[in-house]
Amino acid sequence: MRTPLIAGNWKMHKTLGEAGELVGAIREGIEQVPGVDVLVCPPFQLLFPMAKAVAGSRIMLGAQNVHEAPHGAYTGEVSVKMLENAGCTHVIVGHSERRHVFGEDGGRLAKKVRAVVGGGLTVIYCVGETLDEREAGKTREVVGRQLAEGVGSDVPAQRLIVAYEPVWAIGTGVTATPDQAQEVQEFVRSSLASTYGQTAAGSIRILYGGSVKPLNAASLMEQPDIDGALVGGACLAARDFLAIMGGAASAVSGTA
Ligand code: PEP
Repeated sequence: MRTPLIAGNWKMHKTLGEAGELVGAIREGIEQVPGVDVLVCPPFQLLFPMAKAVAGSRIMLGAQNVHEAPHGAYTGEVSVKMLENAGCTHVIVGHSERRHVFGEDGGRLAKKVRAVVGGGLTVIYCVGETLDEREAGKTREVVGRQLAEGVGSDVPAQRLIVAYEPVWAIGTGVTATPDQAQEVQEFVRSSLASTYGQTAAGSIRILYGGSVKPLNAASLMEQPDIDGALVGGACLAARDFLAIMGGAASAVSGTA
C-alpha cells in the first residue's frame, strides 16, 4: 500500500518568523493525523532553520529546485549536496513555474532528476498540460512526453515521486475533478509500468497538484491512483494544510 504524501510548496513565501510559526502549528496538529507522510518545501534561505524546526517530528524537508551541477560558477544556484547538507530529503523538479516562467526544458530537467537521485535524495517530478493543450486533446501526449524526458530506468523507482499538476489548475482555484485527475494519473502509472514493470510502478507515489483545498482533498485522494497532493496556496496556513492531511487520512481509512 502507498502511504499518502502531502507536500507543501511554499514557493516564494514566508520570512523566518512566519515560517517558524507555520511549522510550529503543523507540528502541533500533525499528531492528530496519523498515516500520512508530510513534507514542507520552503524557499532556500529557510532550509537550515526549518531543518531544526522539524527535527524530531515526522515532517520531512524538501527543496523547490536545484541546479544539476555538483558545484561551480553558477551564480544564484544551489547543488544537491548543499540541499542534503541543509537537511533535505526531497527536491521538486519540473514544477510548471520552472518550466513556463523560467524556461526549463526537458533536457535540463532530465539532468536535474539524475542529479537529485544520484545524490541520494528523492525527486518529485512534476508533469502537466496547459489549458490549450488539454483543449486540443493533447493531455496524454504532453504528459507522456514529459515523463519520457524526465524519467527512465536509470532513475530508481524508490527515489521517484511523480506529481501530476495540470497547469490550468495551479493557483487558479480551478481544481481538476477527481475523475479528470484519476484519468491522467492512471495514464501516468501505466507509462511508469512500461519503464519499471507493474510491481515497481505500483509502488511509486503519484501526487495530484492544482488548487487542492481542505474541501476537495478527500474526494481527490479517494481515487485509486492519487497518492497524495502537492499543495501550493493552501499549505501556507497550518489549519488548511492540516485539514488536507486529514482528508488524505480519511480517504485512506475509508471514512471520508
Ligand atoms: C503548486 O504550486 O504546485 C500548486 C499546486 O499550487 P496551488 O495549490 O496553489 O494550485
